[in-house]
Amino acid sequence: FDMFFLAFVERLFRPTFRKDDFVLGKKLGEGAFGVVYRVSLAKKSSSNEGDLVLKKATEYGAVEIWMNERVRRACASSCADFVYGFLETSSKKGGEYWLVWRFEGESTLADLMQSKEFPYNVETMILGEVQDLPKGIERENRIIQTIMRQILFCLDSLHSTGIVHRDIKPQNIIFSEGSRTFKIIDLGAAADLRVGINYIPKEFLLDPRYAAPEQYIMSTQTPSAPSAPVATALSPVLWQMNLPDRFDIYSTGLIFLQMAFPSLRTDSGLIQFNRQLKRCDYDLVAWRRTLEPRASPDLRRGFKLLDLDGGIGWELLTSMVRYKPRRRTGAKAALAHPYFDREGLLVLSFMQ
Ligand code: ADP
Ligand code: MG
Repeated sequence: FDMFFLAFVERLFRPTFRKDDFVLGKKLGEGAFGVVYRVSLAKKSSSNEGDLVLKKATEYGAVEIWMNERVRRACASSCADFVYGFLETSSKKGGEYWLVWRFEGESTLADLMQSKEFPYNVETMILGEVQDLPKGIERENRIIQTIMRQILFCLDSLHSTGIVHRDIKPQNIIFSEGSRTFKIIDLGAAADLRVGINYIPKEFLLDPRYAAPEQYIMSTQTPSAPSAPVATALSPVLWQMNLPDRFDIYSTGLIFLQMAFPSLRTDSGLIQFNRQLKRCDYDLVAWRRTLEPRASPDLRRGFKLLDLDGGIGWELLTSMVRYKPRRRTGAKAALAHPYFDREGLLVLSFMQ
């Protein structure tokens, strides 16, 4: 009761919008389930929202609104700032769900990774200043480390809330110019296991380029779509048994890989990698073994970056990209990995 009451009160004091309040700007994206625009408000309202983003969503809009409301209350800083969501019925039969966020910034991680300058183009954005280091893998590694830490931080808070994103990819990671950090967007494929919302995974929603090998994030033996109270009682156990959060960890591992190896940043590069990894039964060490003897300078450089500080980056990467969800690290454990800890580097070198 308390939670619903608080949500209701919070909602009451937030600005509400209608169709006519928005002036459409540039189209930012178009997927199978909706179109996204940058928008401004028709009348400069007293709430002074600044620029906003509007998604006109079809079938899954209701779930996406629900997820955004939940994230807003439970872990706001991890995702784009959600403003409002409603069913817009005046234009189309059956209506469309309209979702509104604050405009976080111009670039997604995908945009930034497309640049030849990456990761240097991100350096001052996230570190505030240029590091006192010559250009080279050590400096690049520091930037990549910071990006990885920020993504894992967002994932950890989503997962701790009971939400699995299921569509983690550079296109769904936005650089927030306000907080100077990366945040997660696009909860359109997310699942909340605590209350059974979107409980049955929609495999067709998943992006095959970043999807983990398991087809179903929950075992097919688990009962389908239990009613809310049952799900609340059961889900911590189900979570422990099935570790659905490890699906996002696999995708995040692929992003780490793409940041380390420029040749894997293109679609065709990533697709080829996925094919190679599958051929190696999803064993990254085997993949490396087959490739390294005849590796291009680009690949060699990526391995060198991951091998810095006693191979600590490679160790983290291989603990994320594994066939069995159970054998993958979780977001919280990944954040505690010595890769992110300069003093930890010393500890590891003593251990070796
Ligand atoms: P979909 O992938 O379903 O089309 P997204 O929610 O991923 O929808 O949004 C599409 C694109 O719109 C993103 O890749 C990003 O470029 C932009 N975008 C989405 N939300 C925001 C936001 N809050 N601030 C700035 N840009 C955004
Ligand atoms: Mg998206």
